[in-house]
Amino acid sequence: MRTLQLAGTQVPIIGQGTWQMGENPSRHKEEVSALRLGIDLGMTLIDTAEMYAEGGAEQVVGEAISGQRDKVFLVSKVYPHNASHKGVPLACERSLRRLKTDHIDLYLLHWRGQYPLEETVEAFERLRESGKIGRWGVSNFDVDDLQELAAPTCATNQVLYNLEERGIEFDLLPWCQQNTMPIMAYCPIGQGGKMLANATLKQVAARHGVTPAQVSLAWLLRQETVIAIPKAVRPEHVQLNAQAAQLKLDARDLEALDQAFQAPQRKQRLAMV
Ligand code: NDP
Repeated sequence: MRTLQLAGTQVPIIGQGTWQMGENPSRHKEEVSALRLGIDLGMTLIDTAEMYAEGGAEQVVGEAISGQRDKVFLVSKVYPHNASHKGVPLACERSLRRLKTDHIDLYLLHWRGQYPLEETVEAFERLRESGKIGRWGVSNFDVDDLQELAAPTCATNQVLYNLEERGIEFDLLPWCQQNTMPIMAYCPIGQGGKMLANATLKQVAARHGVTPAQVSLAWLLRQETVIAIPKAVRPEHVQLNAQAAQLKLDARDLEALDQAFQAPQRKQRLAMV
């Protein structure tokens, strides 16, 4: 699988999301297996957060990476209400315990909250110095937030980005590209919802003998600085997502998709879920 440089490490362009994992004990085994299958298929970047199932998703990840921690690039996120001097190290320790590891490769501020950015950054830097995290970054930050942050050590910005939500192409994506900051695209297949039923998307998929979800991933990955983190529990979904890394869309496909899902003509408020 193609890789790109994130936080000083080569990571695969398709990783694995974990939102909504860890919520239902009866699905635990299935979720662990899905993540393990994804790792075997090269999707070794795993994205999680203390928020997901209030630690439940991190526990699923901890089990999935057990015995193969060194293969995985682990991303987790701190709640904004924990993003203080005292809160960050405590939240990180709890995450490390659930993940059954001694370090998180990339630790993100989930979204902006009540604590000054400087305070959170200082706490992140201390965790980095102690080796508990490799690098840090942010999520759901718009251009003005990144400008205020003004931190060259911020490794990424994780944002909502898919065919239906192209707002970041107007200013945020170019800003991140100019500042050599890779973007992590969340909800890359529109949460498996109505986007996948779009007639043009289906036509493009049929032309290549692939699925609409695979086209939606390949469309994001046409850009060299974007990493997609689809979440999948069904093994067939995991397989299809890994295979999407090989799909190349041509000019005709991209033009058709541009007609069906318009690029932004002006600044749009940063979309979030
Ligand atoms: P996704 O766009 O990844 O969609 C997930 C849904 O799509 C699931 O229902 C899944 O089904 C289904 N699916 C997966 N692969 C396929 C496929 N090949 N074909 C058809 N359907 C498929 O949405 P998410 O909201 O999960 O976003 C991805 C990840 O991004 C999250 O899991 C999380 O890690 C991160 N995220 C970050 C946010 C932030 O604020 N920073 C906010 C939201 C998400 P099934 O599971 O049954 O296989």
